[in-house]
Amino acid sequence: MKLFTIFGNPVSHSFSPKIHNASFKKMGLHHHSYVRTKVEDGNNLKEVFKTLGLSGANVTVPHKEFAYSLADEVRGVAQVIGAVNTLVLEDGKLIGYNTDAPGFFKNISTYGDFQKILIIGAGGTAKAIATVFKDEGKEVTVLNRSKKRLDYFKENGFKASTWDEFTAQEYDLVVNTTSAGLEDDSLPVPQDLLENILNSAPFCADVIYGKETSFLRYCKSRDLKTADGSGMLIWQGVLAFKKFVPTSNESEIAEVMKKAFYL
Ligand code: NDP
Repeated sequence: MKLFTIFGNPVSHSFSPKIHNASFKKMGLHHHSYVRTKVEDGNNLKEVFKTLGLSGANVTVPHKEFAYSLADEVRGVAQVIGAVNTLVLEDGKLIGYNTDAPGFFKNISTYGDFQKILIIGAGGTAKAIATVFKDEGKEVTVLNRSKKRLDYFKENGFKASTWDEFTAQEYDLVVNTTSAGLEDDSLPVPQDLLENILNSAPFCADVIYGKETSFLRYCKSRDLKTADGSGMLIWQGVLAFKKFVPTSNESEIAEVMKKAFYL
């Protein structure tokens, strides 16, 4: 019996048990099981991991930074962004990964090979996505409401500006990584600026899923192609699953997870 979980607070909304259990079933791993675990204090993640006898876990809001700090070793893009969404027990050590941004990249690559990317927002998700695109040799610009979070991007060789300083160029892809539109109907940048940006951008993507954001609605009203955050969710799950069950077939698991997600 191998047990896996998703740590979060709240966690009752998480689709992770659904998509991972469907994948275990598909692979005939009947003794593998994936549950939800609500953890209030992120400092306790390691203890809970051990007490439950877990083999692996995913980590969601607000514990990704805690997971980064408590992992015995952190690998890949998680090192750059300081946030871990996947914990795996390997040879008695807790190894931390982040599959969110690689998942975004995998998903968006199914739509095309985008070279010039504008990322709206400068939080953890923006950092991760910007890093993955840069590592793939793409040209990345970051646009944020306020200045403070842009320092990281400027120091790491990205073009980065606030709304006031920004002059729109041509982009292949515009990605909204802000939480604007999650709880309300606001746009991630003022409408006149967005209008300007979208004049020469054929594709818009959002990291939010489960509701159509004002940003994607606006892009659709201009007949642009769009992708919401559900594909990213599926692919971060596929890449995490591959850490849990290294022998799994990526495209097969993606199909299983997609089916389970929309069931
Ligand atoms: P952070 O808190 O780290 O960053 C939030 C960013 O959004 C900041 O740049 C902030 O700007 C900006 N922002 C917030 N509200 C507004 C607004 N009203 N107008 C303009 N800008 C705004 O968040 P994360 O990066 O951790 O998460 C961002 C989103 O990504 C969340 O909605 C989360 O649900 C989603 N997500 C989706 C995943 C998936 O699998 N689909 C995986 C991981 C995250 P400022 O600096 O000015 O405050």
